Amino acid sequence: MPVGLSQFIPEPFRSHLQVLHKTLKNANFESYLVGGSVRDLCMGKIPKEYDLTTSAKPEDVKKLFRHVIETGIQHGTVTVVMDKVNYEITTFRLDKDYTDGRRPDHVEFGTSLSEDLKRRDFTMNALALNLETDELIDEQEGQIDIQKKIIRTIGDPIKRFSEDGLRPVRAMRFASVLGFSIEPNTKKAIAITKQITAKISVERLQEEIIKSFLGPKPSEMLKLLLEEGTLSLFFPGILSENISPQNKSLLALDSVSKENTGFILGIWIYAIFPETDPSECEDFLKKLKFSNQMIKDALFFFSICVDLAKPLPYGEYEIRKQFLAPIAKHISTRKMEPNEMFSGLKVVITKLNDKEAVQWFEKSFNVWQSKPPLLLSELAINGKDIESRFPELPKQKFGVLLQFLLETVWKDPTNNQFANLLEHSAQFISKL
Ligand code: ATP
Ligand code: MG
Repeated sequence: MPVGLSQFIPEPFRSHLQVLHKTLKNANFESYLVGGSVRDLCMGKIPKEYDLTTSAKPEDVKKLFRHVIETGIQHGTVTVVMDKVNYEITTFRLDKDYTDGRRPDHVEFGTSLSEDLKRRDFTMNALALNLETDELIDEQEGQIDIQKKIIRTIGDPIKRFSEDGLRPVRAMRFASVLGFSIEPNTKKAIAITKQITAKISVERLQEEIIKSFLGPKPSEMLKLLLEEGTLSLFFPGILSENISPQNKSLLALDSVSKENTGFILGIWIYAIFPETDPSECEDFLKKLKFSNQMIKDALFFFSICVDLAKPLPYGEYEIRKQFLAPIAKHISTRKMEPNEMFSGLKVVITKLNDKEAVQWFEKSFNVWQSKPPLLLSELAINGKDIESRFPELPKQKFGVLLQFLLETVWKDPTNNQFANLLEHSAQFISKL
C-alpha cells in the first residue's frame, strides 16, 4: 500500500481538509478522513467526495466553522461548506438497536474511532486517514480486501445485513462500480436476509441503481439484482425470480455514455423486459420512483430498442417519418443536444444489431444531417396561414391538413415551401 496517501488528494480539497483537521485539532478534537474517499485513495482513484469522522459533537463543529448545514444532526452529521465544497463531518458513534431493518433506534456519541469504524458496513469502507501524520488506520483488514478486490462485511454478515437492509444493495452496487466480488459468506447472507432488504424504501433502491449506472459496469449490478431476486422483492407481480437478461443488452448497457442516465435506464429496462409494452415499463419505472424526465428518456430509448429489433424502415421517407421525426420530437421536448441522442443511439445499434443495421444508421444519420423538416412546427406554413387562405375550412380539419402536409414534406423535403404547400392544401381541401 502506498504511504502518504494525502498527497494524492487534489487541490483545493487537500487544503480544505487541512483547515478542517487543524481547526478541530486546535479545539482538542480528533478527526480523520474516512469511508469512500480513503478506500478510493487506496485504490489509486481520485475521490469524488470527502467525509470526516471526529470526536467533536455536532454543536462543537457548528461553533468552529462559519458555514455549517445541519444535514443529519440526530445521526451526528453536519456539513461544512468551504468554497462551495461540502464536507460531511460525523461524530464518532455507535449505532444501537436496529429493529426496523432500516436505521438504528438510537445512536450513541462519544465513542472512539475504533468503535466508529466497527459500525461501518464493509471492511473497505472502514479505513481512516490521519490528515496530519498520514497514518492509515486499518483495524478491519480493509487494505487486504481492497487488494483482493473483495467486499466483506465487518463482523457477521447475516447480523450486519439484518440491521440494515440497504447494505446488501450497497454490496451489489459496490461490486458493480468497483469491479469487486462479494465474499462468499457475505453473498450467502444477501439471500438469507432478503426479507430485511424488502423493507428498504424504493427510493433507496433507485438511488443505488442510478449509482450503478455511473460506474463502468451497470450490467453487474443488474445481474446481481436479478440473481438475488432483489427486484422481485419489490415487484412480485412484475418480475419472476429467474428472469435472465439478454447478453447483447447488457453490453449496450455498459457501453452507452454516462451523459444521459435516462437512456441508460431505457437500455436497463430493455435488458430486463425486451418483450414488454412501454406502458408496463412505465408503471414499473414509476413504482421505482425515477424522475419524470428520466422516465421519458428511458421510455423513448426503450421504444427505439424495441423498434430496432423489427425490420428496419428502409426508404428515406420511412426513415424521416418513423425514425427521425420521433427523435426530433423527443429532442425538442427535452431540449437536448442532437449529439447526445445520436451518440447514445449509435452505441445501442452497434451493440444490439448487426453490421447492416449500423450501415442503416449511418444512412439515417446522413439524412438527419441534411436537416429535413420533420415536425409540424418546421412546416413552411402554419394554422394561421391556412385560416387566412382557406377561411371556409372548418377548424377541426386543420389537424388532418397539416398532417397531410407533413407527410408530403417527409416524402420530399423540397416540398417545404409556402407556395408549394398552399397548392397541396388546395388540392387536399378540394377532395374533402
Ligand atoms: P460512495 O460515496 O462512493 O458511494 P461511500 O463508501 O463513500 O461510497 P457513502 O454512502 O458516502 O458511501 O457513506 C460513507 C461511509 O459511511 C461509508 O464508506 C461507510 O463507512 C459508511 N456507511 C454508509 N452507509 C452505511 C450503511 N448503510 N451501514 C453502515 N455504514 C455505512
Ligand atoms: Mg461517499
